[in-house]
Amino acid sequence: MECSRCGGFMVQEEFFGLQEEAFPVTTLGWRCVMCGEFVDSVIAANRRTVAEKSNKARRPALSHAT
Ligand SMILES: [Zn+2]
Repeated sequence: MECSRCGGFMVQEEFFGLQEEAFPVTTLGWRCVMCGEFVDSVIAANRRTVAEKSNKARRPALSHAT
């Protein structure tokens, strides 16, 4: 996996999610060894969703003839 910020090499890391104190969850994420950018699976999924949405938004331009 390549860093979306600098294109550097990313290593997979396990970390504890901080959002739920009562239920510490181990999550897999990716950390860039070059710039320190961190992407967890949730962020990656969100980015995919956004990309899919923006692809769907790309429609042929409608003519506004009145
Ligand atoms: Zn990077």
